[in-house]
Amino acid sequence: MDRRTFILAAAALPLCAHAQPKNMKDIQALQSNWKSFLPAGAAVPSPSEPLKLSRDEWKKRLQGEAYKVLRDEGTERAGSSPLNHEKRPGIFACAGCGLPVFTSEMKYESGTGWPSFFTTIPGVFDTKKDSSFFQVRTEYHCKRCGGHHGHVFDDGPEPTGERWCNNGVALKFLPKDAKA
Ligand SMILES: [Zn+2]
Repeated sequence: MDRRTFILAAAALPLCAHAQPKNMKDIQALQSNWKSFLPAGAAVPSPSEPLKLSRDEWKKRLQGEAYKVLRDEGTERAGSSPLNHEKRPGIFACAGCGLPVFTSEMKYESGTGWPSFFTTIPGVFDTKKDSSFFQVRTEYHCKRCGGHHGHVFDDGPEPTGERWCNNGVALKFLPKDAKA
């Protein structure tokens, strides 16, 4: 194939490769191809550029519920996020610092009322044990800004078996095609 055909084929890939991943090799491909979901020309930060702000600075940067969730480990009401219904190709970035954390192909419908993902862009979250509410859960937060996103459970779909249950207010969606 000539160069132009190759570029067109490569550009179309994220749109037609929407089959469910069957094995961990498919998952690794989703993880390593995440940049193909970025909008053209988007400049995004990396996990190795930490963003540290004071509580007052975060209060100025984040409104209402986003502050409560990201900085105080709050949980939004189930079913309240418009991102539950977001199905366009693109990137879900941390609403605190803009770090890309999931692609649209990592999202699935869990029926819980929170945006749910079966894997993440590699190296973007740190986890800790959370023993609140009389149960032990695994909390996860953004590696770059420390913002709380949600909890990860082991009842997700195969092949990862992971369910990254994310507060929608902790995410902002960047559609790959701004006109989509
Ligand atoms: Zn962040």
